[in-house]
Amino acid sequence: MQNANNSDLPLDEMLCVCGYPKSGLHSMESPCPECGSIELATYASSFSYYGWNVALLGVGMTVVHGLFLWISLDVGFQPPEILLAPPWVFVSMPLGVLSLLYAVISKVRREPKRKWRRNVGMALLSVMLLPVAGFVALLLYVAGGGLWTV
Ligand SMILES: [Zn+2]
Repeated sequence: MQNANNSDLPLDEMLCVCGYPKSGLHSMESPCPECGSIELATYASSFSYYGWNVALLGVGMTVVHGLFLWISLDVGFQPPEILLAPPWVFVSMPLGVLSLLYAVISKVRREPKRKWRRNVGMALLSVMLLPVAGFVALLLYVAGGGLWTV
């Protein structure tokens, strides 16, 4: 059975650690012609991967924090000061910034399996979601005449 050409396998599954596509080689065990390494790139240990998880954590925190604030407002509960801005300032925003940093490192190091745009998008979401949601909420509040009827 002729199986030298694994064209039905996703290409990005078979990149050398230097980024050279190993799909064209006869065997995955052959050393890379570019760098001589026999290792395949793995996404799980890349900065791109760390950055993604860090950004996810930041967005998760923002969502929990945002929901908490929303529900608090809704039931007329005044959250303690420590729960107003600090979760975003000290968790979501730094995580988003850290993720952006990881994305930059990943790009500079030319990681073969980086997912640059997706990570930056999620990192920006972590940083921007709460301020944007807060701004929209304020606009809706003002648009609803909230400032004048209180
Ligand atoms: Zn290589």
